[in-house]
Amino acid sequence: MSFDTNRINLMVKKGLRGELDHFEKVLDFLERYSTVPQAKFGMYSLVFQIAMNVFIDVAKDCEECGGKCCKSGYPVPVYNFDYNELKKKLNRDDLKKLNKVDNNLHVLPRPCPFQKGWLCGIHGFKPYACLSFPFATEDEQETIINRYNGDGIPDFNVPDYCIAGIKVKNILGSIIEDLKNRLGRPPSPRELYQELKARYGRK
Ligand code: SF4
Ligand code: SF4
Repeated sequence: MSFDTNRINLMVKKGLRGELDHFEKVLDFLERYSTVPQAKFGMYSLVFQIAMNVFIDVAKDCEECGGKCCKSGYPVPVYNFDYNELKKKLNRDDLKKLNKVDNNLHVLPRPCPFQKGWLCGIHGFKPYACLSFPFATEDEQETIINRYNGDGIPDFNVPDYCIAGIKVKNILGSIIEDLKNRLGRPPSPRELYQELKARYGRK
């Protein structure tokens, strides 16, 4: 796979919607750069994201929470690869709910106009920032990324109110401990992903 950010981002989105072959191709690609701490951080982050979106059932947790992540916080970034998908799915009035920042970026205000109760009204084509929450949100993870030197597994910052994220982090923490005992070292992102897949299959 050649380096085409747009293509890779779309493959990540497809992966987080359950198309695992796309997700695995992105891991294959990023593994070439796994000696770079930011790339390794990104790979672990993706494994936590796919655990939350595909493998671990968090629907009840999000219902109990009431959808706090869509109600408040900074505006949600909508990158061009997100916007191009949304343009095909939304009618003109709904598209106007996105605010243009510049030619490369739109944002969704929070509270999000697409939230329906605790659910996302555009679940099948929500922006990447929503799929990756809380394991890649820049304001949540910035300090962790800056501190990460490539040793071990990043200690992702999950907000106290995100009970689904805390559940996912705890489950992966327990898998990581088991793998450390088995391997005598922290698992690579690929090893962690494979163990997650073996234990949880599809939700
Ligand atoms: S992802 Fe976290 S903050 Fe968002 S609805 Fe679920 S539990 Fe709440
Ligand atoms: S697009 Fe969906 S998941 Fe994203 S903030 Fe809006 S309601 Fe929440």
